Amino acid sequence: MSTQERAEVWQKLFADADEEIVIGEAAVVDHDAITHLACWKPPADIGRYRNLRVVISVGAGVDQVPPLPEGVNLSRTLSPRIDQMVCEWVVMSALMLHRNMVTYIDQASRGIWKPHANLMTRETRIGVMGMGRVGLPVARCLKNMGFHVSGFSRSGRPNDGITTYGARDMDVFLADTNLLICLLPLTDDTRGLMSDAFFNKLPMGSRLVHAGRGAQIDMTALRSALDQGRIESAMLDVTNPEPLPENHWAWADPRIIITPHIASVTDYEDGARHVLEVIDADRNGRIIPGLVDSTLGY
Ligand code: NAP
Repeated sequence: MSTQERAEVWQKLFADADEEIVIGEAAVVDHDAITHLACWKPPADIGRYRNLRVVISVGAGVDQVPPLPEGVNLSRTLSPRIDQMVCEWVVMSALMLHRNMVTYIDQASRGIWKPHANLMTRETRIGVMGMGRVGLPVARCLKNMGFHVSGFSRSGRPNDGITTYGARDMDVFLADTNLLICLLPLTDDTRGLMSDAFFNKLPMGSRLVHAGRGAQIDMTALRSALDQGRIESAMLDVTNPEPLPENHWAWADPRIIITPHIASVTDYEDGARHVLEVIDADRNGRIIPGLVDSTLGY
């Protein structure tokens, strides 16, 4: 899935760091010499790489990576640029929903001049699901803009004075939210999370920003929630399925704006630097950056 351009950037940075790199499986001569594998999805016959130590996902998530052989660690790409780009997209989307922009864009396409009432920021109760590397800066940023913000995470660990609900308190969290942001990793626990029952726990007229992973949302449940007025409007960067087929109902629904999973893209240099940091940490016995807990799946 990579490109020649990315390969050239990586080759240069690896040469500067005096590290060897083989680009593409076809170029591998000695499978035993490969210790670190950077990829979106590892090859099915990964067992051929008998001295493999770490697989590095070139994206921020690892849900596309199947279980790895015993003893092989998994790292996800950490990059300040990814965090910043997601934060920008999510804050933009939250502001667009807060200021009725989905409705105004629809009205503009039909030449309709019709103002709508607006809430003050303090009256919009934003709930951020996933208070990790990307969720926490989003929550901080929106709180600084005057929104009422609460968080939701597996542990419910308190964060910077932002009330954070644990997984067991999801119902209370949802009842207290009228603009929901999903920034959760896709795991066995979060797959299909946004279902009919889930949406029914939100107050009527809620708004949704989804930038986690497509498989977390049941699109039919979203449609019912929109039809019932439970969800008023939504901004989706990830969809189910993905890519969303051309004839899917959601494209034409005026209550939804969809972007094609572009909240962030991994910069070539950042990706290569992350892999070099993983190799260095692994070689020197330090904790690998972006190390995934295989029992939790993120
Ligand atoms: P992270 O640092 O690992 O944070 C994950 C957060 O989710 C943590 O707060 C964690 O809780 C919480 N969590 C995990 N499982 C949960 C569960 N079952 N119930 C409640 N909370 C749960 O990950 P991140 O870097 O912030 O990224 C999160 C996700 O954002 C990625 O996995 C990816 O799906 C998505 N993402 C999307 C884009 C895009 O372009 N659209 C770009 C980057 C990332 P604890 O704090 O208790 O561990």
